[in-house]
Amino acid sequence: MSHIKGIAASSGIAIAKVYRLEAPDLSYEKRTIDVPENEVKRLHEALDISKSELEKIKEHTKKSLGDEHAEIFSAHLLVLSDPELIQPIEDKIKSDNVNAEAALEETANMFIDLFKNMDNEYMRERAADIQDVTKRVMAHLIGVTFPDPALINEEVVIVADDLTPSDTAQLNKQFVKGFTTDIGGRTSHSAIMARSLEIPAVVGTKEITGKAQKGTMIIVDGIDGDVIVDPSEQDLDKYRDKMARFEEQKQEWAKLKDEATVTSEGTHVELAANIGTPEDVQGVLDNGGEGVGLYRTEFLYMGKNQLPTEEEQFDAYKSVLEQMGDKPVVVRTLDIGGDKELDYLELPKELNPFLGFRAIRLCLERDDIFRTQLRALLRASVHGNLKIMFPMIATLEEFREAKNILNEEKLKLQEEGKDVSENIEVGIMVEIPSTAMIARRFAKEVDFFSIGTNDLIQYTMAADRMNERVSYLYQPYNPAILNLINNVIEAAHAEGKWAGMCGEMAGDSIAIPILLGLGLDEFSMSATSILPARTQLKDLSKEEMASVKDTLLSMGTADEVVAFIKEKTNQ
Ligand code: PEP
Ligand code: MG
Repeated sequence: MSHIKGIAASSGIAIAKVYRLEAPDLSYEKRTIDVPENEVKRLHEALDISKSELEKIKEHTKKSLGDEHAEIFSAHLLVLSDPELIQPIEDKIKSDNVNAEAALEETANMFIDLFKNMDNEYMRERAADIQDVTKRVMAHLIGVTFPDPALINEEVVIVADDLTPSDTAQLNKQFVKGFTTDIGGRTSHSAIMARSLEIPAVVGTKEITGKAQKGTMIIVDGIDGDVIVDPSEQDLDKYRDKMARFEEQKQEWAKLKDEATVTSEGTHVELAANIGTPEDVQGVLDNGGEGVGLYRTEFLYMGKNQLPTEEEQFDAYKSVLEQMGDKPVVVRTLDIGGDKELDYLELPKELNPFLGFRAIRLCLERDDIFRTQLRALLRASVHGNLKIMFPMIATLEEFREAKNILNEEKLKLQEEGKDVSENIEVGIMVEIPSTAMIARRFAKEVDFFSIGTNDLIQYTMAADRMNERVSYLYQPYNPAILNLINNVIEAAHAEGKWAGMCGEMAGDSIAIPILLGLGLDEFSMSATSILPARTQLKDLSKEEMASVKDTLLSMGTADEVVAFIKEKTNQ
């Protein structure tokens, strides 16, 4: 048995067998063969299995993420049935007398090189498709398992070095009971997605892949950040008990689903949810969310080989707005970069992606991408209560430029005779210290602020949010962070604007009383945190928390803040 400590990333307990998610070893030996027909037969068997797997993944993706994400698999299926690719592989087997593996790799590489260097974007995307599917066919030829999280059909806990956001999107909750990784932090995007999918997760364990063999029993405790490999009977009993208590607690929380969020003196605060796809909206409504405080639109752009069209985006935005009715929906414009990459944009690798060409920086330079998104949003605006916000704003000029582009697109649409709502609030995420420092100047020009603490903390503390070795510096309660947040809220209120928070801090039980006292208007969090937060707020007094604001802001360390809040709120 081994006990490993990590970072609690998504609450709940999972007990199941280990499933190792790792890139397979695709090395093979090039051989001269005597009977080409046998190799052609092997090739076709590998193609057939690959096709049937891709069909299943496509169906699964369609159900969990919608049609547009499933499209990439249609493209892959086309590649596998394309005689212009398959015939030359067969020819090569026969003319060169080589095994199917060698013929596949050499032919695929020839096409990949050819397409990759073409000017035509469509052809470059085909290169990426061929690269993806040949790996799968190769794995079947060699006889190694090609890990497909979407195809798991028994109860497992996934163990991996890291999970990409698109790996996470493929997980089927019915079978994947939990996951645990070597790297990552509470605010890495796979952790955030685990919370929307309600899959228990412990990340940043540093060593789990070295300790957990395929098929061994494992416990993932996403409440306290513990992982137990090969547990004893005693451990199993203990954690089954903990799991049952967690389920009971969830039943308690559920009682407040249709209640308003009010403090002990009856003051209302808004509890909204963060979402990544239109499919997440159901979870928001099931958990009693009063709005969407952050729609991360990046996922529309990920897991595919090309930019989403205006129409695809319009459909997604409209769907979210309609499902939410008259409740507010804050849509964030594209925030790609950092740990969210888009291979098809072919951006040069950067040494510090979190400090680099991301989010609004990219959108202002690639305004073709930005304008398409804004048009889709503006057209969707008549279907609900839309608010638009720009990510990673570091200067007033960036905000002004983004807003000008938005206004230009609005005017163009109106000239084309399209309906656009006249009541769209336009705000910014405050996630860079420069903006938090002069929030007073921003407050005169924006309609609202949403504080993105995941990034605000990493930039203020100079600690990469993905790097588990510096995760001790992810300190939401550090007085430096509290002072910046206070500055932003005061600035908003001085101009009659509202201030929300959509970083993970907004759903944290130690932070909630502090933020209430600082006067935060809207708390946006993972849907599953809403009911616990509503339960907690019911017993908190806003006035009382406001009366200790100055004490908290003048403290020296995060530990002092935590000790004070625990004592004050009996946690
Ligand atoms: C944040 O930075 O707090 C935030 C909500 O944005 P993201 O986590 O998507 O970077
Ligand atoms: Mg951010």
